[in-house]
Amino acid sequence: MWQTVGQDRAVAALQRGLAQGRQAHAYLFVGPPQVGKGTLALELAQALNCDGPEPPCGECTPCRRIAGGIHADVQVVTVETGDGGPHKDISIDQIREVGRTVSLRPFEGRCRVIIIDPADAMNEAAQNAFLKTLEEPPPDVVFVLITSRPRAMRATIRSRCQQFEFSSLPVAKLEEALRERWSVAPRQAQLLARLSRGRLGWAIAARRDEEMMRVRHEALVDIRSLPERTIQDRFAYASEVAGRFSRDRVTVMAVLDLWREWWRDVLLASSGGQDAITNLDLGDILKAEADRYEPGQVIAFLRSLAASKRRLEENVNPRLALEVLMLDLPTPR
Ligand SMILES: [Zn+2]
Repeated sequence: MWQTVGQDRAVAALQRGLAQGRQAHAYLFVGPPQVGKGTLALELAQALNCDGPEPPCGECTPCRRIAGGIHADVQVVTVETGDGGPHKDISIDQIREVGRTVSLRPFEGRCRVIIIDPADAMNEAAQNAFLKTLEEPPPDVVFVLITSRPRAMRATIRSRCQQFEFSSLPVAKLEEALRERWSVAPRQAQLLARLSRGRLGWAIAARRDEEMMRVRHEALVDIRSLPERTIQDRFAYASEVAGRFSRDRVTVMAVLDLWREWWRDVLLASSGGQDAITNLDLGDILKAEADRYEPGQVIAFLRSLAASKRRLEENVNPRLALEVLMLDLPTPR
């Protein structure tokens, strides 16, 4: 029984391949963060090593050891956290270590599974080393490369993998999954489903994690107060966020998504579209905000926000991109 929610095409294709005994040596799972790529990679590892009648059963010893992260033949290679905080990339030493590991026969299971997540974090030298391993794939080894930025990876690596595209889930489907599989109360399921923007992984983590809701709360305080602040204050904010961007780009992009959702909600609240708002728990505040801003200005700001996100993705000077955004904030009445 495959547990991955949504992503039916990828699951069906994997199942077909396994049933016919012809899995690929390397897979590339492409899609936005937290939509199930890592979950499906682990399920594939379970399916390849399961002792149950219907792999992946989730119940047998290998399935449980894999789910618990203690199976000797299933390894996740990721950016390591060192003394000075997280490193920026996956190093050549890590990939060389993988090369040594995969030259050995599986230790306790039938198949070694090496998950590289995020695969785009491999630096130049690491990608070169990995390419060599991929060119002469050892038997009994399956690689799963996970990325939300496939173009940051060499085409020669991508072309050697069987590629699956993952997409964000429809909000209704996600809400249903939260209620039925994770027993989340209906109102909270509705809020989390909308806040998650189709990322089930985020919603599942957020239901328990006060830190994630705190980050959201703090971001919303900034979002609401910045239009009132002086230009110096706004530039100080831009500079602070730009500094964070160089260390932790994922979090900063997520904060900019909160910005988009918030201003989109302000627009919806001013046009009677309350049913579609994301920040369901803040409906009253949104209504008051909607009265304070000219819809035309909000629309212009949303455009500027989209442009800033594009510039950040293209690695334009982050501080400059954010300063432009600070100048384009709507003016309260
Ligand atoms: Zn099993």
